[in-house]
Amino acid sequence: MSEYKINTKCVQAGYTPGNGEPRQIPIIQSTTFKYATSEDMGKLFDLEAEGYFYTRLQNPTNDMVADKIRQLEGGSAAMLTSSGQAANFYAVFNIANCGDHVVASNSIYGGTYNLFAVTMKKMGIDFTFVSPDASEEEISAAFKPNTKAVFGETIANPALTVLDIEKFAKVAHEHGVPLIVDNTFPTPINCRPIEWGADIVTHSTTKYMDGHAAGVGGCIVDAGKFDWMKYADKYPGLCTPDDSYHGVTYAERFGIGGAFITKCTVQLMRDLGSIQSPQNAFLLNLGLESLHVRMARHCENAMKIAEFLNAHDKVSYVNYPGLSGDKYHEMAKKYLPNGSCGVVSFGVKGGREAAEKFMKSLKLGAIETHVADARTCCLHPASATHRQMNDEELLACGVYPDLVRYSCGIEDAEDLIADLAQALDQI
Ligand SMILES: *Cc1c(COP(=O)(O)O)cnc(C)c1O
Repeated sequence: MSEYKINTKCVQAGYTPGNGEPRQIPIIQSTTFKYATSEDMGKLFDLEAEGYFYTRLQNPTNDMVADKIRQLEGGSAAMLTSSGQAANFYAVFNIANCGDHVVASNSIYGGTYNLFAVTMKKMGIDFTFVSPDASEEEISAAFKPNTKAVFGETIANPALTVLDIEKFAKVAHEHGVPLIVDNTFPTPINCRPIEWGADIVTHSTTKYMDGHAAGVGGCIVDAGKFDWMKYADKYPGLCTPDDSYHGVTYAERFGIGGAFITKCTVQLMRDLGSIQSPQNAFLLNLGLESLHVRMARHCENAMKIAEFLNAHDKVSYVNYPGLSGDKYHEMAKKYLPNGSCGVVSFGVKGGREAAEKFMKSLKLGAIETHVADARTCCLHPASATHRQMNDEELLACGVYPDLVRYSCGIEDAEDLIADLAQALDQI
Protein backbone atom coordinates (compact mmCIF):
# COMPACT_ATOMS: atom_id res chain seq x y z
CA MET A 1 0.00 0.00 0.00
CA SER A 2 3.01 2.31 0.37
CA GLU A 3 2.60 3.60 -3.20
CA TYR A 4 -0.85 5.03 -2.41
CA LYS A 5 -1.90 8.35 -0.89
CA ILE A 6 -3.12 8.60 2.70
CA ASN A 7 -6.82 8.83 1.70
CA THR A 8 -6.57 5.48 -0.07
CA LYS A 9 -4.73 3.96 2.89
CA CYS A 10 -7.57 5.04 5.23
CA VAL A 11 -9.98 2.97 3.17
CA GLN A 12 -7.92 -0.04 2.14
CA ALA A 13 -4.65 -0.46 4.09
CA GLY A 14 -4.12 -3.28 6.58
CA TYR A 15 -6.16 -5.97 4.88
CA THR A 16 -6.27 -7.26 1.32
CA PRO A 17 -8.66 -10.18 0.85
CA GLY A 18 -7.65 -13.12 -1.31
CA ASN A 19 -9.90 -14.86 -3.82
CA GLY A 20 -13.28 -15.64 -2.24
CA GLU A 21 -12.35 -14.13 1.12
CA PRO A 22 -14.55 -11.62 3.01
CA ARG A 23 -14.45 -8.02 1.74
CA GLN A 24 -14.62 -6.60 5.27
CA ILE A 25 -11.95 -7.50 7.84
CA PRO A 26 -12.94 -10.65 9.73
CA ILE A 27 -13.57 -10.36 13.47
CA ILE A 28 -11.53 -13.21 14.94
CA GLN A 29 -13.61 -13.61 18.08
CA SER A 30 -11.44 -16.30 19.62
CA THR A 31 -9.36 -16.26 22.78
CA THR A 32 -7.06 -19.00 21.53
CA PHE A 33 -5.56 -20.69 18.46
CA LYS A 34 -5.03 -24.41 17.76
CA TYR A 35 -1.73 -26.15 16.96
CA ALA A 36 -0.90 -29.72 15.90
CA THR A 37 1.96 -30.32 18.33
CA SER A 38 3.34 -28.97 21.58
CA GLU A 39 6.56 -28.39 19.69
CA ASP A 40 4.79 -25.94 17.34
CA MET A 41 3.41 -24.16 20.39
CA GLY A 42 6.83 -24.10 22.06
CA LYS A 43 8.33 -22.25 19.11
CA LEU A 44 5.71 -19.51 19.48
CA PHE A 45 6.49 -19.21 23.18
CA ASP A 46 10.21 -18.92 22.41
CA LEU A 47 9.45 -16.22 19.78
CA GLU A 48 11.12 -18.49 17.21
CA ALA A 49 8.01 -18.74 15.02
CA GLU A 50 5.39 -16.11 14.22
CA GLY A 51 1.78 -16.83 14.99
CA TYR A 52 -1.09 -16.28 17.38
CA PHE A 53 -1.64 -18.28 20.52
CA TYR A 54 -3.65 -16.18 22.97
CA THR A 55 -5.70 -12.99 22.45
CA ARG A 56 -4.41 -11.39 25.67
CA LEU A 57 -1.21 -10.72 23.69
CA GLN A 58 -2.24 -10.52 20.05
CA ASN A 59 -5.23 -11.04 17.78
CA PRO A 60 -5.32 -11.03 13.95
CA THR A 61 -8.20 -8.51 13.72
CA ASN A 62 -6.32 -6.07 15.96
CA ASP A 63 -3.14 -6.53 13.95
CA MET A 64 -4.85 -5.70 10.65
CA VAL A 65 -6.20 -2.45 12.12
CA ALA A 66 -2.89 -1.61 13.83
CA ASP A 67 -1.16 -2.13 10.50
CA LYS A 68 -3.50 0.37 8.84
CA ILE A 69 -2.62 2.99 11.50
CA ARG A 70 1.08 2.11 11.13
CA GLN A 71 0.85 2.87 7.41
CA LEU A 72 -1.07 6.12 8.03
CA GLU A 73 1.64 7.33 10.45
CA GLY A 74 4.53 6.00 8.36
CA GLY A 75 5.96 3.73 11.08
CA SER A 76 7.71 0.35 11.16
CA ALA A 77 5.43 -1.48 13.64
CA ALA A 78 2.24 -0.84 15.61
CA MET A 79 -0.10 -2.36 18.18
CA LEU A 80 -3.58 -1.61 19.50
CA THR A 81 -4.32 -1.16 23.20
CA SER A 82 -7.57 -1.13 25.17
CA SER A 83 -7.50 2.67 25.61
CA GLY A 84 -5.47 5.79 24.99
CA GLN A 85 -4.41 5.68 28.64
CA ALA A 86 -2.99 2.17 28.13
CA ALA A 87 -1.18 3.33 24.97
CA ASN A 88 0.60 6.19 26.76
CA PHE A 89 1.36 4.04 29.82
CA TYR A 90 2.84 1.22 27.72
CA ALA A 91 4.79 3.58 25.44
CA VAL A 92 6.56 5.12 28.44
CA PHE A 93 6.79 2.02 30.67
CA ASN A 94 8.33 0.01 27.82
CA ILE A 95 11.53 2.09 28.22
CA ALA A 96 11.29 3.81 31.64
CA ASN A 97 11.15 1.80 34.85
CA CYS A 98 11.45 2.38 38.59
CA GLY A 99 14.30 4.85 39.20
CA ASP A 100 14.04 6.44 35.73
CA HIS A 101 12.98 9.92 34.69
CA VAL A 102 10.97 11.39 31.80
CA VAL A 103 10.66 14.98 30.50
CA ALA A 104 7.08 15.84 29.47
CA SER A 105 5.26 18.88 28.13
CA ASN A 106 2.98 20.34 30.82
CA SER A 107 0.30 21.02 28.21
CA ILE A 108 -1.19 17.53 27.93
CA TYR A 109 -4.47 15.72 28.48
CA GLY A 110 -5.52 15.72 32.16
CA GLY A 111 -5.73 11.92 32.27
CA THR A 112 -2.17 11.61 31.00
CA TYR A 113 -0.97 14.21 33.49
CA ASN A 114 -2.52 12.17 36.32
CA LEU A 115 -1.05 8.93 34.96
CA PHE A 116 2.43 10.48 34.91
CA ALA A 117 2.40 12.78 37.94
CA VAL A 118 0.50 10.50 40.35
CA THR A 119 0.27 6.85 39.29
CA MET A 120 3.61 6.38 37.53
CA LYS A 121 5.28 8.48 40.22
CA LYS A 122 4.07 5.86 42.73
CA MET A 123 5.81 3.27 40.55
CA GLY A 124 9.08 5.15 41.01
CA ILE A 125 9.18 6.95 37.65
CA ASP A 126 9.82 10.65 37.98
CA PHE A 127 8.54 13.31 35.55
CA THR A 128 9.71 16.86 34.97
CA PHE A 129 7.11 19.00 33.18
CA VAL A 130 8.19 21.80 30.86
CA SER A 131 6.17 24.37 28.92
CA PRO A 132 5.49 23.46 25.26
CA ASP A 133 6.91 26.95 24.58
CA ALA A 134 10.19 26.20 26.40
CA SER A 135 13.43 27.01 24.58
CA GLU A 136 15.92 24.29 23.64
CA GLU A 137 18.03 25.35 26.64
CA GLU A 138 15.06 25.14 29.00
CA ILE A 139 14.08 21.67 27.74
CA SER A 140 17.72 20.58 28.00
CA ALA A 141 17.92 21.83 31.58
CA ALA A 142 15.11 19.44 32.57
CA PHE A 143 17.22 16.36 31.69
CA LYS A 144 18.85 14.15 34.32
CA PRO A 145 21.34 11.31 33.90
CA ASN A 146 18.42 8.82 34.24
CA THR A 147 16.10 10.50 31.67
CA LYS A 148 14.72 7.88 29.26
CA ALA A 149 12.19 9.73 27.07
CA VAL A 150 10.53 13.03 26.16
CA PHE A 151 6.72 13.22 25.83
CA GLY A 152 4.32 15.76 24.30
CA GLU A 153 0.98 16.15 22.46
CA THR A 154 0.86 17.48 18.88
CA ILE A 155 -2.25 19.53 19.79
CA ALA A 156 -2.92 19.47 23.52
CA ASN A 157 -6.35 18.54 24.87
CA PRO A 158 -7.97 20.93 25.96
CA ALA A 159 -5.44 23.79 25.88
CA LEU A 160 -4.99 23.52 22.05
CA THR A 161 -1.29 24.41 22.28
CA VAL A 162 0.74 23.13 19.29
CA LEU A 163 3.98 21.24 20.00
CA ASP A 164 7.15 22.25 18.17
CA ILE A 165 7.88 18.62 17.32
CA GLU A 166 11.18 19.33 15.55
CA LYS A 167 12.52 21.27 18.52
CA PHE A 168 11.53 18.64 21.07
CA ALA A 169 12.92 15.85 18.84
CA LYS A 170 16.21 17.69 18.42
CA VAL A 171 16.74 18.12 22.17
CA ALA A 172 15.64 14.53 22.89
CA HIS A 173 18.08 13.16 20.31
CA GLU A 174 20.93 15.35 21.57
CA HIS A 175 20.44 13.63 24.92
CA GLY A 176 20.15 10.18 23.32
CA VAL A 177 16.48 9.51 24.15
CA PRO A 178 13.38 9.08 21.96
CA LEU A 179 10.51 11.55 21.56
CA ILE A 180 7.02 10.12 22.20
CA VAL A 181 4.17 12.17 20.67
CA ASP A 182 0.45 11.72 21.39
CA ASN A 183 -1.11 12.53 18.01
CA THR A 184 -4.77 12.02 19.00
CA PHE A 185 -6.18 15.44 18.06
CA PRO A 186 -4.74 16.03 14.56
CA THR A 187 -4.69 12.33 13.55
CA PRO A 188 -2.22 11.29 10.80
CA ILE A 189 -4.52 13.04 8.30
CA ASN A 190 -3.40 16.45 9.58
CA CYS A 191 0.05 15.69 11.03
CA ARG A 192 2.50 12.79 10.92
CA PRO A 193 4.93 13.43 13.81
CA ILE A 194 7.40 10.80 12.52
CA GLU A 195 8.10 13.06 9.52
CA TRP A 196 9.21 15.74 12.02
CA GLY A 197 11.46 13.49 14.10
CA ALA A 198 9.15 11.74 16.60
CA ASP A 199 10.21 8.18 17.45
CA ILE A 200 7.03 6.78 18.99
CA VAL A 201 3.48 7.97 18.21
CA THR A 202 0.48 7.20 20.43
CA HIS A 203 -3.26 7.61 19.99
CA SER A 204 -6.49 7.54 21.87
CA THR A 205 -8.37 5.90 18.99
CA THR A 206 -11.51 6.64 21.05
CA LYS A 207 -11.50 10.11 19.49
CA TYR A 208 -11.46 10.94 15.74
CA MET A 209 -10.17 7.54 14.59
CA ASP A 210 -13.26 5.75 15.90
CA GLY A 211 -15.12 9.02 15.48
CA HIS A 212 -18.59 7.76 16.39
CA ALA A 213 -18.31 7.39 20.18
CA ALA A 214 -18.58 3.62 19.76
CA GLY A 215 -15.45 2.13 21.32
CA VAL A 216 -12.64 3.12 23.69
CA GLY A 217 -9.20 2.21 22.32
CA GLY A 218 -5.57 3.17 21.80
CA CYS A 219 -2.63 2.59 19.49
CA ILE A 220 1.18 2.78 19.63
CA VAL A 221 3.28 3.22 16.47
CA ASP A 222 7.07 2.89 16.35
CA ALA A 223 8.92 4.98 13.74
CA GLY A 224 11.66 2.34 13.69
CA LYS A 225 14.35 5.02 13.69
CA PHE A 226 15.67 5.11 17.26
CA ASP A 227 18.90 3.13 17.59
CA TRP A 228 18.44 1.42 20.99
CA MET A 229 21.74 -0.46 20.72
CA LYS A 230 23.64 2.82 20.43
CA TYR A 231 22.38 3.62 23.94
CA ALA A 232 22.38 0.03 25.22
CA ASP A 233 23.31 1.07 28.78
CA LYS A 234 20.22 3.23 28.98
CA TYR A 235 17.76 0.65 27.62
CA PRO A 236 18.66 -2.70 29.21
CA GLY A 237 15.08 -3.94 28.68
CA LEU A 238 15.59 -3.79 24.92
CA CYS A 239 19.34 -4.40 24.72
CA THR A 240 20.06 -7.19 27.22
CA PRO A 241 18.60 -10.72 27.34
CA ASP A 242 15.02 -11.15 28.62
CA ASP A 243 15.00 -14.11 31.02
CA SER A 244 11.27 -14.59 30.54
CA TYR A 245 12.00 -15.52 26.87
CA HIS A 246 15.06 -17.74 27.32
CA GLY A 247 17.40 -14.82 26.90
CA VAL A 248 16.12 -13.13 23.75
CA THR A 249 17.55 -9.62 23.23
CA TYR A 250 14.80 -7.65 21.48
CA ALA A 251 17.02 -5.06 19.78
CA GLU A 252 19.19 -7.82 18.30
CA ARG A 253 16.51 -10.33 17.29
CA PHE A 254 13.87 -7.87 16.03
CA GLY A 255 16.09 -5.00 14.91
CA ILE A 256 15.61 -1.26 14.98
CA GLY A 257 12.13 -1.43 13.41
CA GLY A 258 10.66 -4.29 15.45
CA ALA A 259 12.21 -4.29 18.94
CA PHE A 260 9.99 -1.70 20.65
CA ILE A 261 6.58 -3.09 19.62
CA THR A 262 7.68 -6.73 20.04
CA LYS A 263 8.82 -6.09 23.63
CA CYS A 264 5.69 -4.06 24.33
CA THR A 265 3.51 -6.92 23.03
CA VAL A 266 5.20 -10.01 24.41
CA GLN A 267 6.20 -8.49 27.75
CA LEU A 268 3.80 -5.69 28.73
CA MET A 269 0.70 -7.05 26.99
CA ARG A 270 1.47 -10.54 28.30
CA ASP A 271 1.84 -9.33 31.88
CA LEU A 272 -0.64 -6.44 32.01
CA GLY A 273 -3.16 -7.48 29.34
CA SER A 274 -4.65 -4.17 28.18
CA ILE A 275 -5.66 -5.60 24.79
CA GLN A 276 -8.39 -4.07 22.62
CA SER A 277 -11.26 -6.46 21.91
CA PRO A 278 -11.41 -7.66 18.28
CA GLN A 279 -15.01 -6.33 18.12
CA ASN A 280 -13.79 -2.84 19.03
CA ALA A 281 -10.91 -3.13 16.56
CA PHE A 282 -13.50 -3.88 13.85
CA LEU A 283 -15.52 -0.78 14.83
CA LEU A 284 -12.32 1.28 14.90
CA ASN A 285 -11.55 0.16 11.36
CA LEU A 286 -15.01 1.27 10.20
CA GLY A 287 -14.19 4.71 11.61
CA LEU A 288 -10.77 4.76 9.93
CA GLU A 289 -12.38 4.11 6.53
CA SER A 290 -13.89 7.63 6.60
CA LEU A 291 -11.27 9.41 8.76
CA HIS A 292 -9.92 11.55 5.89
CA VAL A 293 -13.42 12.68 4.88
CA ARG A 294 -14.53 13.42 8.43
CA MET A 295 -11.36 15.30 9.47
CA ALA A 296 -11.77 17.73 6.59
CA ARG A 297 -15.35 18.49 7.66
CA HIS A 298 -14.48 18.70 11.39
CA CYS A 299 -11.79 21.29 10.54
CA GLU A 300 -14.00 23.24 8.12
CA ASN A 301 -16.78 23.49 10.73
CA ALA A 302 -14.34 24.39 13.52
CA MET A 303 -12.82 27.19 11.44
CA LYS A 304 -16.24 28.72 10.69
CA ILE A 305 -17.28 28.39 14.34
CA ALA A 306 -13.99 29.85 15.65
CA GLU A 307 -14.48 32.85 13.36
CA PHE A 308 -18.10 33.29 14.44
CA LEU A 309 -17.18 33.12 18.14
CA ASN A 310 -14.21 35.43 17.69
CA ALA A 311 -16.50 38.14 16.31
CA HIS A 312 -19.22 37.68 18.98
CA ASP A 313 -19.42 40.35 21.70
CA LYS A 314 -20.38 37.87 24.44
CA VAL A 315 -17.23 35.80 23.85
CA SER A 316 -14.11 36.96 25.71
CA TYR A 317 -11.46 34.84 23.93
CA VAL A 318 -11.16 31.94 21.45
CA ASN A 319 -8.37 29.32 21.25
CA TYR A 320 -8.09 27.67 17.84
CA PRO A 321 -4.75 27.16 16.07
CA GLY A 322 -6.43 27.77 12.70
CA LEU A 323 -7.35 31.39 13.63
CA SER A 324 -4.86 33.91 12.29
CA GLY A 325 -4.61 35.72 15.64
CA ASP A 326 -4.03 32.53 17.66
CA LYS A 327 -0.80 32.21 19.66
CA TYR A 328 -0.06 28.91 17.89
CA HIS A 329 -1.10 29.94 14.38
CA GLU A 330 2.47 30.07 13.00
CA MET A 331 3.27 26.67 14.53
CA ALA A 332 0.03 25.30 13.06
CA LYS A 333 0.95 26.62 9.59
CA LYS A 334 4.15 24.58 9.79
CA TYR A 335 2.90 21.33 11.34
CA LEU A 336 -0.80 21.40 10.41
CA PRO A 337 -1.03 23.05 6.98
CA ASN A 338 -4.24 21.22 6.02
CA GLY A 339 -6.13 21.91 9.25
CA SER A 340 -5.67 21.22 12.96
CA CYS A 341 -8.70 19.56 14.60
CA GLY A 342 -12.38 20.12 15.31
CA VAL A 343 -12.00 21.30 18.90
CA VAL A 344 -12.36 25.00 19.75
CA SER A 345 -12.12 26.36 23.28
CA PHE A 346 -13.42 29.77 24.32
CA GLY A 347 -14.56 31.91 27.21
CA VAL A 348 -17.95 33.54 27.61
CA LYS A 349 -18.27 36.94 29.30
CA GLY A 350 -19.82 36.61 32.74
CA GLY A 351 -17.59 33.79 34.02
CA ARG A 352 -18.61 30.41 35.39
CA GLU A 353 -22.38 31.09 35.67
CA ALA A 354 -22.57 32.46 32.14
CA ALA A 355 -20.66 29.44 30.79
CA GLU A 356 -23.05 27.05 32.56
CA LYS A 357 -26.15 28.94 31.36
CA PHE A 358 -24.83 29.04 27.80
CA MET A 359 -24.08 25.30 27.69
CA LYS A 360 -27.47 24.35 29.13
CA SER A 361 -29.08 26.36 26.33
CA LEU A 362 -27.36 24.50 23.49
CA LYS A 363 -29.68 22.18 21.57
CA LEU A 364 -27.27 20.44 19.17
CA GLY A 365 -24.06 20.58 21.21
CA ALA A 366 -24.53 17.94 23.91
CA ILE A 367 -22.80 18.14 27.30
CA GLU A 368 -20.50 15.09 27.42
CA THR A 369 -17.15 13.88 28.74
CA HIS A 370 -16.01 13.29 25.19
CA VAL A 371 -14.43 15.05 22.23
CA ALA A 372 -13.79 14.34 18.58
CA ASP A 373 -17.12 12.71 17.80
CA ALA A 374 -19.19 13.02 14.60
CA ARG A 375 -21.85 14.65 16.83
CA THR A 376 -21.05 18.04 18.35
CA CYS A 377 -20.39 17.94 22.08
CA CYS A 378 -19.07 20.27 24.73
CA LEU A 379 -17.69 20.28 28.24
CA HIS A 380 -17.18 22.88 30.96
CA PRO A 381 -13.85 21.71 32.44
CA ALA A 382 -14.28 23.83 35.60
CA SER A 383 -17.43 21.86 36.51
CA ALA A 384 -16.23 18.47 35.20
CA THR A 385 -12.64 17.34 34.60
CA HIS A 386 -11.17 20.14 36.76
CA ARG A 387 -14.00 20.30 39.29
CA GLN A 388 -11.79 19.76 42.34
CA MET A 389 -9.86 22.98 41.67
CA ASN A 390 -10.82 26.43 42.96
CA ASP A 391 -10.73 29.45 40.63
CA GLU A 392 -7.17 30.34 41.63
CA GLU A 393 -5.88 26.84 40.82
CA LEU A 394 -7.79 26.86 37.54
CA LEU A 395 -6.07 30.08 36.51
CA ALA A 396 -2.68 28.59 37.36
CA CYS A 397 -3.14 25.66 34.95
CA GLY A 398 -4.66 27.76 32.16
CA VAL A 399 -8.17 26.32 32.45
CA TYR A 400 -10.18 29.46 33.10
CA PRO A 401 -13.49 29.18 35.01
CA ASP A 402 -15.37 30.46 31.94
CA LEU A 403 -13.62 28.09 29.47
CA VAL A 404 -15.88 25.96 27.28
CA ARG A 405 -14.40 23.07 25.26
CA TYR A 406 -16.53 22.79 22.14
CA SER A 407 -15.94 19.81 19.85
CA CYS A 408 -17.36 20.53 16.40
CA GLY A 409 -19.03 17.54 14.80
CA ILE A 410 -19.72 17.02 11.13
CA GLU A 411 -23.25 18.47 11.12
CA ASP A 412 -24.05 21.51 8.93
CA ALA A 413 -22.01 24.50 10.15
CA GLU A 414 -24.97 26.87 9.69
CA ASP A 415 -27.08 24.81 12.12
CA LEU A 416 -24.24 24.71 14.66
CA ILE A 417 -23.69 28.47 14.42
CA ALA A 418 -27.43 29.16 14.82
CA ASP A 419 -27.41 26.92 17.90
CA LEU A 420 -24.42 28.77 19.37
CA ALA A 421 -26.03 32.13 18.59
CA GLN A 422 -29.30 31.31 20.37
CA ALA A 423 -27.42 29.90 23.40
CA LEU A 424 -25.22 33.02 23.65
CA ASP A 425 -28.42 35.13 23.52
CA GLN A 426 -29.61 33.36 26.71
CA ILE A 427 -26.74 34.79 28.77
C1 LIG B 1 -8.75 11.06 25.51
C2 LIG B 1 -7.29 11.22 25.40
C3 LIG B 1 -6.42 10.28 25.98
C4 LIG B 1 -6.92 9.10 26.77
O1 LIG B 1 -7.55 8.20 25.92
P1 LIG B 1 -8.71 7.16 26.39
O2 LIG B 1 -9.00 6.44 25.13
O3 LIG B 1 -9.83 7.96 26.94
O4 LIG B 1 -8.07 6.29 27.43
C5 LIG B 1 -5.07 10.46 25.80
N1 LIG B 1 -4.58 11.51 25.11
C6 LIG B 1 -5.39 12.44 24.55
C7 LIG B 1 -4.80 13.58 23.79
C8 LIG B 1 -6.77 12.33 24.68
O5 LIG B 1 -7.57 13.25 24.13
